[in-house]
Amino acid sequence: MRTPLIVGNWKMNLTTKEAASLVEKLRSRLSDTKEVEVALCPPFTSLETVAKTCKGSGIHVGAQNMFWEDQGAYTGEISPVMLKDLGCSFVILGHSERRQFFGETNENVSKKVKSALKHKLIPIICVGETLSQREAGETDRVCREQLMESLEGIDNLEGNEIVVAYEPVWAIGTGRTASPKDADHVANFLRLILANTYSARTAERVRILYGGSVKPENIVEFIAQPNIDGALVGGASLKADSFGEIVRLCVI
Ligand code: PEP
Repeated sequence: MRTPLIVGNWKMNLTTKEAASLVEKLRSRLSDTKEVEVALCPPFTSLETVAKTCKGSGIHVGAQNMFWEDQGAYTGEISPVMLKDLGCSFVILGHSERRQFFGETNENVSKKVKSALKHKLIPIICVGETLSQREAGETDRVCREQLMESLEGIDNLEGNEIVVAYEPVWAIGTGRTASPKDADHVANFLRLILANTYSARTAERVRILYGGSVKPENIVEFIAQPNIDGALVGGASLKADSFGEIVRLCVI
């Protein structure tokens, strides 16, 4: 049985004061939803504030990216050691906005995944096709390639040390979503790849999230799918009411 996981990706939003205020509101809304795991991924600048404000609530904190080296002359980068120091337990890797605007490649993601695992940070590995790839019938191929290349060189996995997020690029921030059935098809396909690469037991344990315009009005259909274990939420995670409601609706 996989525990549902709802992750808020705040992207480049909120000052530290606004971040603390959002967490305070969420704490009261999430006090009776312990069956669902929750992680908040604010910008680097608010990580410390969010980690402190989350203390004792059971809400996890994650980053939206990291570099793979522990330290050194990498101006502008943040290391896994620094994330652990601030209290992070998750890190989003390979988000399509990193791929689109910052040249993130599967090869980079793979180095970051290895580094995250070494530091006991749970990588949330994002995969997903663009609209033109979907229209060309390439969804499965693209997602397989992204997942396999992100896990390149990792020979053993128990399953609970990674999370995979299926995020169709055309559904992110657009108000459009994949149909729950289509999303479940891809999640099932990704699970089969994990079973072939590692083992059926590993594949059974990996949590696979759906991401792309998730909101209170559509979460129930996604979480009801057998292969979807939660959501990576962008826009709707910036409001306590909508994010709190998404989490509440995942309590079985
Ligand atoms: C995301 O940023 O990962 C995301 C899914 O955004 P949104 O929920 O706004 O589509």
